[in-house]
Amino acid sequence: MGELKKNYTTLKQIQTDLNNQLTTCESLVLGYLDNISKNKHLNAFNEVFEEDSIQRAVKIDKKIRSKKAGVLAGLIVGIKDNICYKGRRAEASSNILKDFVSSYSATVVDRLLSEDAIIIGRLNCDEFAMGSGNENSSYGPVQNPIKTNYVPGGSSGGSAASVKANLCHLALGSDTGGSIRQPAAFCGVVGLKPTYGLVSRYGLIAYASSFDQIGPIGKSFEDIELITHVISGKDNFDTTCIGKKMSIKKNINQTKKTFAIIEDAVNFVGLDHEISKEFDRFVSTLKKNGHKIEYVKLPLLEYLVPTYYILTTAEASSNLSRYDGVKYGFQRSCEEIDSLITKTRTEGFGPEVKRRILLGNFVLSQGYYEAYYKKAQRVRTLIKNQTEEILSRHDYILLPTTPNKPFKIGDTASPIKRYYEDVFTVQANLSGHPALSFPLGQTKDGFFASAQIIGKYFSEPELIQIAKNISEY
Ligand code: GLN
Repeated sequence: MGELKKNYTTLKQIQTDLNNQLTTCESLVLGYLDNISKNKHLNAFNEVFEEDSIQRAVKIDKKIRSKKAGVLAGLIVGIKDNICYKGRRAEASSNILKDFVSSYSATVVDRLLSEDAIIIGRLNCDEFAMGSGNENSSYGPVQNPIKTNYVPGGSSGGSAASVKANLCHLALGSDTGGSIRQPAAFCGVVGLKPTYGLVSRYGLIAYASSFDQIGPIGKSFEDIELITHVISGKDNFDTTCIGKKMSIKKNINQTKKTFAIIEDAVNFVGLDHEISKEFDRFVSTLKKNGHKIEYVKLPLLEYLVPTYYILTTAEASSNLSRYDGVKYGFQRSCEEIDSLITKTRTEGFGPEVKRRILLGNFVLSQGYYEAYYKKAQRVRTLIKNQTEEILSRHDYILLPTTPNKPFKIGDTASPIKRYYEDVFTVQANLSGHPALSFPLGQTKDGFFASAQIIGKYFSEPELIQIAKNISEY
């Protein structure tokens, strides 16, 4: 096995070395495989596609030599274990999908492959993408590469940890309530939740379909931009995917912008003081650089988390009803079909998934439907309207990505406390807006304080450029 000669920040740097024959896809793959085997303790991968990626690398090296390679040649990428790749297992880190082999590839996977990316493995995550610490996984917790007794965030914890530890150059995650942005923040890398409808969900194992979006976690804004460009755009297999292919804009109008800061978010009682300090420092540099900052109210802030959990658990209870031991994966055989289903689901799902299925069934049940589900749908519309209204008066909404720094693996907190980790991230999922998280600076213990900017629907080309620009202050 080879060693990676360099730590690349951008795909462009990799491609420059490839074109100058300073490296090959094969040696890159061998280098990443070496990093993966040296970092097994992180538990970031549920499976490594070793043979497969070496073989693909050899083919792509040939294409590079004959100048026929796609725009992602040289990109070694990991995919979250809830994204299907034909002929490979896709388990969403759940026992109920143990050894389930996908018969088709997700649209995002097809698009990556058609541009000659190499998929090196499937990444650990919270079971069915439900969690904030990657501890709810049938494969066990993932360690944060910055400090290994801390969580990397969740649910795309394996994705963020593997990018940070250089086990792959870039990773795909999914974000239903923050699962790309929060782990990106906990590991000090960049993560984008695209506008709902920009990226196809075909082949993504569903958690809450009206919230779920696939997006990239990477080391640079440049890569985030290119990957989003490649994976975005209409797809006949997903009728909610209505956005055009995201363009890559070269000359974005870099005039001064207005940023709306949600007052209740920065005054949030649970906001960590180091994150708050870094955020304030960032806001003053924005001002110094001529941008306009305005403090605004989001009267529904306290309803964000409850609304998110009522609606996502309702959708999850419906989506997860298909795992009955008959159609997919794991089965506990019994003579009676009812006991087969009960036993399979009892043993197949982990405790957090069960909690959410129960909660979802409760809020959808006759008698409670009006009081919970229907009311939450109405509140969602209000949140969407209030967010749109803020974005009609300001270019962006700016807020910390997370209220807290990473917590210790095994730290027991009540589910409600954990759910409040999502207080700043769920707004963009409830409203469908794009949101990009990026590190601001390091905290004393070596972690990072991150901010996220939320932009107008389908404004990703500008959003990424502006974030790149302001993050350099
Ligand atoms: N922490 C959130 C949850 O547990 C986020 C999940 C997600 O975005 N997939 O639901």
